Amino acid sequence: MALVNDHFLKLPNNYLFADIAKKVNAFKAMHPKVNVISLGIGDVTQPLAPAVIEAIHKAADEMATSQGFRGYGPEQGYDFLREAILKNDFLPRGIHLDKDEVFINDGAKSDTGNIQELVRWDNSIGVTDPIYPVYIDSNVMIGRAGWKGDDGRWSNVMYMPCNAENGFVPQIPDRRVDIIYLCYPNNPTGTVISKEELRKWVNYALHNDTLIFYDAAYQAYIKDDEIPHSIYEIRGARKCAIEFHSYSKTAGFTGVRCGYTIVPKDVTAATLTGERIPLNPLWYRRQCTKFNGTSYISQRAAEAIYTPEGKQQIRATIDYYMQNASRMLQTLRQLGFECYGGENAPYIWAKTPETSSSWKFFEEMLYGAHVVCTPGVGFGPAGEGYVRFTAFGSHEKTDEALDRIRQWLK
Ligand SMILES: *Cc1c(COP(=O)(O)O)cnc(C)c1O
Repeated sequence: MALVNDHFLKLPNNYLFADIAKKVNAFKAMHPKVNVISLGIGDVTQPLAPAVIEAIHKAADEMATSQGFRGYGPEQGYDFLREAILKNDFLPRGIHLDKDEVFINDGAKSDTGNIQELVRWDNSIGVTDPIYPVYIDSNVMIGRAGWKGDDGRWSNVMYMPCNAENGFVPQIPDRRVDIIYLCYPNNPTGTVISKEELRKWVNYALHNDTLIFYDAAYQAYIKDDEIPHSIYEIRGARKCAIEFHSYSKTAGFTGVRCGYTIVPKDVTAATLTGERIPLNPLWYRRQCTKFNGTSYISQRAAEAIYTPEGKQQIRATIDYYMQNASRMLQTLRQLGFECYGGENAPYIWAKTPETSSSWKFFEEMLYGAHVVCTPGVGFGPAGEGYVRFTAFGSHEKTDEALDRIRQWLK
């Protein structure tokens, strides 16, 4: 008899976006003629950049020849891409990393979920609340999160609430915790962290011997020069932080699949006897066993976004989305919503009217305006009373959705 990993049974079996789809489908079944606009799911909509398409075609043609054919690639990724990353994403910010500290992945979700394999099951973890659900769920699956209480919190997870009261800046914990997940610019709130605040986290981590998992999936959306794009802009971070990047939101790669993880050679974790073990070779070992690399074609596609044309083209798409964000911010604020984010991230986090829970407001807007948002409570208990709007739609759909919301509230 095979015994199931019963930690999986502790997970709520409903996935947030499946719940939303169910409610939207129920609405559509009753109102077959109404077209619903989604400002809900965090997927991009605009086509790939021409430079990326060209690189994909070229790589496919190479694969069609016996000289150009590539089979398994290096588990850590091809040198051409790792070198382009160092040269473009880090050196201009004064960050000197070694090529062996870059691990190409098939998107940041896999690595943000898998990285916790490197540490024992009985470490304590801390997360900002609300949060990208992968961080907690991946810890639940191996038994590190404990049990889910009636308040929606897991017993072994320390929650650092981010809300309007603290300006969405999480308080530095008053006790030590082994591992902390941070995501900036933040999904779902769209808020950012200043260098000064991030420095406090790095100092906390160095002082308390805490490991930071830093998700920088939205760094390409930062407009403000003062906001850090990488935690390694902070001195000392390479001793305590692992960082995740993704081309999904940067360059529309949600279907192409490519990103990278930085595991600095100076990051260590302890054995029970106190010996310090560098995590970089462990992650390499793990990848060689469980991961056979990202496709050559995807890696060539990613390389193309670092060419002058590629850079300009992906910038244009990001600007396009950010125009949506500023129209949304402006309209929602005019309509009296208290809104956050949307300036250095493609998400707007809006406070629901006084009497509405996240889900109640979601349903009211679906039935009243035929517009879909994401209930904030789906991202954690501190998300109750908020909803998330995404800027990833077309200008036309976004404008129409805003018009409908305006009409509905009249
Ligand atoms: C979209 C997203 C990612 C990236 O996912 P991919 O697997 O690279 O597509 C990672 N972290 C957060 C917070 C995200 O929202």
